[in-house]
Amino acid sequence: MTRKLLCAAILCAALLTASRLGAANPPEWTQPFPPFKIAGNLYYVGSADLAAYLIATPKGNILINSNLESSPAQIRQSIEKLGFKFSDTKVLLISHAHFDHCAGSAQILKITGAKYEVMDADVPVVQAGGRNDFNYAAQKDLWFPPVHVDRVLHDGGSVALGGTVLTAHKTAGHTKGTTTWTLDETNGGRPLHVVIVGSPNVNPGYKLVGNTAYPQIADDYRHEFQVLQSLPCDIFLGAHGAYFGMKGKYERWKAGDRSAFLDPNGYKRYIADREQAFEAEFRRQSAGH
Ligand SMILES: [Zn+2]
Repeated sequence: MTRKLLCAAILCAALLTASRLGAANPPEWTQPFPPFKIAGNLYYVGSADLAAYLIATPKGNILINSNLESSPAQIRQSIEKLGFKFSDTKVLLISHAHFDHCAGSAQILKITGAKYEVMDADVPVVQAGGRNDFNYAAQKDLWFPPVHVDRVLHDGGSVALGGTVLTAHKTAGHTKGTTTWTLDETNGGRPLHVVIVGSPNVNPGYKLVGNTAYPQIADDYRHEFQVLQSLPCDIFLGAHGAYFGMKGKYERWKAGDRSAFLDPNGYKRYIADREQAFEAEFRRQSAGH
């Protein structure tokens, strides 16, 4: 594990512990971040760590992730700063059914009238506001406003709008319906495969062995790593900026490097690192430590 990844993993663990104890969320989650164009019609509209993506099309826009209950105003500002209308949001998608990626959905759907499209196994959790989450059901501070899902997605399903097609890959484990989104962009005539990783992380307290609330959790993680390894990736993105080193890449982007987010090797390294972390945790739990 590189030092950077180790820091990110420790940070994630610390953050989840902090929020479980009812402490304030980490500042990066709410810190504003300048919106910017990643490639083609794909834009970053999230905070300093909680990623949100806008895909602008002639028929309206797709938004991936609504983040915290307090995030919609910030996401709206970012969208408007880029010159788009918040009310043109036609479809809302999420990375997975945890409060830091979907708690803002109720408000965004109410304001925009967008359609909420969610992976099948995350639907019950989204509609119950996290009260039936396999790991966090008893932790009220991680609940979020329950929202009706308009369209249930399945593995390999697509979301199409105005000529853009996104593919929903079920990469479960972190939640039962964690979704990795892929789409293709072009840059100067060159096709670019975009991967937005849903989450390959094992949170503190996750039971990988003998989990009665989620018996197939370990199999799902292993399947996820197979899927992630099989996806062609030029532009590496994810649910948190920390997954793909967003801040460093953005600094390069700001300095004029428009290929800053092209990182096929970084993607492979990240997936390999997360798989190793999963297997190490699985071995630790299997040995009864
Ligand atoms: Zn999560």
